[in-house]
Amino acid sequence: MDEIINNNDDNKSADDKERDYDEYEKICYLCHRPESKAGKMIEMPQNICICADCMQKTFDSMNGQGGYDDLMKMAGIPGIHFMNLSDISEIPQRQKIKKKKKDRTAPPIDLKSIPAPHQIKAMLDEYVIGQEYAKKVISVAVYNHYKRVATDTMDSIEIQKSNMLMIGPTGSGKTYLVQTLARLLDVPLAITDATSLTEAGYIGDDIESVVSKLLAAADNDVEKAERGIIFIDEIDKIAKKKETRNRDVSGESVQQGLLRILEGSDVEVPVGANSKNAMVPLTTVNTRNILFICGGAFPDLDNIIKERLNKQSSIGFKADLKDKYDNDPDLLEKVTLEDLREFGMIPEFLGRLPVIFTLKKLTEDMLVRILKEPKNAILKQYRKLLELDEVDLQFEEEAYQAIARKALEKDTGARALRSIIEDFMLDIMYEMPKDKNIGRVIITKDYVEKKGGPVIEPRGVAMIEAQ
Ligand code: ADP
Repeated sequence: MDEIINNNDDNKSADDKERDYDEYEKICYLCHRPESKAGKMIEMPQNICICADCMQKTFDSMNGQGGYDDLMKMAGIPGIHFMNLSDISEIPQRQKIKKKKKDRTAPPIDLKSIPAPHQIKAMLDEYVIGQEYAKKVISVAVYNHYKRVATDTMDSIEIQKSNMLMIGPTGSGKTYLVQTLARLLDVPLAITDATSLTEAGYIGDDIESVVSKLLAAADNDVEKAERGIIFIDEIDKIAKKKETRNRDVSGESVQQGLLRILEGSDVEVPVGANSKNAMVPLTTVNTRNILFICGGAFPDLDNIIKERLNKQSSIGFKADLKDKYDNDPDLLEKVTLEDLREFGMIPEFLGRLPVIFTLKKLTEDMLVRILKEPKNAILKQYRKLLELDEVDLQFEEEAYQAIARKALEKDTGARALRSIIEDFMLDIMYEMPKDKNIGRVIITKDYVEKKGGPVIEPRGVAMIEAQ
């Protein structure tokens, strides 16, 4: 597998340089062919290498003999006629391709080192509050996925890829769940937004750009990227448009374009850039072992589910009341493939996301727990910051509830918590270091609701109580 790295030779020892020389081959700055294909390179200032062919053609075109276009056609690069020295000065680092390893037989992941589902869930529990079902499903799916990667079975029983579709309201923790998972498993993660994707050739990001982001997250290490996770957020935004006379370049076409990479194929991606152009080297990434997780809020999906359920229950003797499902908090969990198809996701796309699960809308109790419990809870971070000033930060129980209630009003899930907390903590963080006599600050419900101030205790009292 080709591996492309950026090297900054200035910081390297002579030994390192020697090793690089052995492991990596130079690539021609103009035609991007590696030394193994283009032959010996001519080294130029600024760590740039040019192959003999390109050098010859450049001289030819300068002498008016043409011929450079032929070479560019050969390299698949249109329209560069001769070497532009001003371009060269803009390239700060050398880019090299790692020589292909021929004897790569050992499986990349050790089966025993993959944590079991209950261990993955236990790790997630430390950070992600509630969403028990989602955590369980994701733990099992990830475990199976890496088992599949580790065994690499291509014999009679091929294990299906466990790509996932995550449905849940905004701020319910979809992105956070994936971020936490990737960090705990120590695999590269790329988060992209489906709204920015368009069919190739239209304004917007190409579909392959999602893989190129993962490559960047893996430090341009292709092997590492090939075991990573790609999270595509706002997947509901690429639903098939209901009534459209124009070509649906950002909806159905994107779903079609994603099919190939979800399933697993060789994708040619630019290294260190979002789009393919003549100045960027390309490399091939195979997506067969990349885990794709798609997430979206799917607004109005609940109406589709409700309609289907009402239709079913209004037939025959078991006819129910029409508003039976109106206030059902778990309505989203009853989603079926049929509903998602009705929403505008194409069957082939859904077929490549075999694991579908929902996240719950956060309740007041869950928000209070999010404030208090996670290992890196935002209030714990503030407490730590003030501890460094020797100030003890405390919260009244009712203050937690007041924050959670305020967040619920905004209807953006846990995302609202941070802005609410930052709003009232600003004054505290500004004022406390001013007065060295302050030993404790207690945030009250009234302070959160802007009806009063916090309780401030001088250093002596706080210290005696602490003892
Ligand atoms: P979305 O579902 O819209 O992707 P996010 O995952 O971006 O929501 O959540 C926003 C923030 O809210 C996260 O960064 C995280 O700090 C917090 N959060 C959301 N849900 C939870 C949860 N269940 N447990 C702990 N923190 C959460």
